[in-house]
Amino acid sequence: MFFLKRHRVADERLHFHELIHVIQWRLLGPASFLAAYADGLERFRYRESPLEMMAYDAEASFSQSPEIFDAEKLVAGQLSRINIEQDCRFPNISRRMTMPDPLSRLQLAQ
Ligand SMILES: [Zn+2]
Repeated sequence: MFFLKRHRVADERLHFHELIHVIQWRLLGPASFLAAYADGLERFRYRESPLEMMAYDAEASFSQSPEIFDAEKLVAGQLSRINIEQDCRFPNISRRMTMPDPLSRLQLAQ
């Protein structure tokens, strides 16, 4: 479930963006999604956080191509390329997402 402002209910791009987060949530599980999302915000801020960049990149691809889009396959592939490692800052949620350099971002964007 996600919430939208009324004036954006017909915005297909936005629905697709939120769909990517739904898939991220499902593939990572709630605990890892929340930890990775919070960690991404803290270290990269909103727009550059890994889970947001993935959603914005997917949204752009979706809106630029009429082809059928396997969003789950895309997210699974990208998540597998992002390094999720142990993080003692989340003792109960022991994984975090890292994307250390611009090269990683280029790989994600493919
Ligand atoms: Zn988003």
